[in-house]
Amino acid sequence: VFHAINKLKLIATGDIGCYTLGALPPLSAMDTCVDMGASITNALGLEYSLKGRDKRKIVAVIGDSTFYHSGITGLIDLVYNKGTSTVIILDNSITAMTGHQDNPGTGKTLMGEDSPKFDLERLIKGLGIEHVYSVDSYNLEEVANLIKRETERSAPSVIIARRPCILLPEMKKKKFDKYEIDENKCTGCQMCVKLGCPAISFDKEKKKALINKSLCVGCSLCFQVCKFGAIKKVQGE
Ligand code: SF4
Ligand code: SF4
Repeated sequence: VFHAINKLKLIATGDIGCYTLGALPPLSAMDTCVDMGASITNALGLEYSLKGRDKRKIVAVIGDSTFYHSGITGLIDLVYNKGTSTVIILDNSITAMTGHQDNPGTGKTLMGEDSPKFDLERLIKGLGIEHVYSVDSYNLEEVANLIKRETERSAPSVIIARRPCILLPEMKKKKFDKYEIDENKCTGCQMCVKLGCPAISFDKEKKKALINKSLCVGCSLCFQVCKFGAIKKVQGE
């Protein structure tokens, strides 16, 4: 998502969660981060204050648990005050940053009891937002195309980018494909490095990128950005 935000040169108002790290290099894709829920109210404020002065489109980026906690109020404000910004909800099916607490999107209460899961799409449509779409966070092209289309729309929209947190117990049990770099094909362009993946580093002497396979979770994003065919999938380990 942050890769697409950079590619499209958008203004991104951020929020509080593990994704706030997107504000730091190499992504540097978040322009504001004030407090929980402020991504959406900041987007609306900037939309009005920058009108006629800055042509860049605005997106608010917020996690699923933060949205349930305090993002929904800002979204009501945005709809009521005729905002047209796009809100991107990063749905990783848990409250990751503070230690995997359950939330209304997980189907469990904080005491671990079953409770009906909130349907995020229906909830948002119920606020009067017609344009609500979901996308797989690992599909770079689809994510970029959807963000581009929705930021060009003169109406509010919400994109739900989904992928479960990699540290969830059910994810830890999974076997992932691994990716590796063919040194002979790597041109050292560093497009893969700019993704900010902890598994990717750059050897400045050799001018080649490297993947630490023990940290790779097989998301394939580096494979998708490499234009030189230097990254290939290897069997899961
Ligand atoms: S994107 Fe491909 S060519 Fe560029 S540094 Fe990474 S592996 Fe090498
Ligand atoms: S496949 Fe994903 S996790 Fe693995 S090195 Fe590439 S970007 Fe990192």
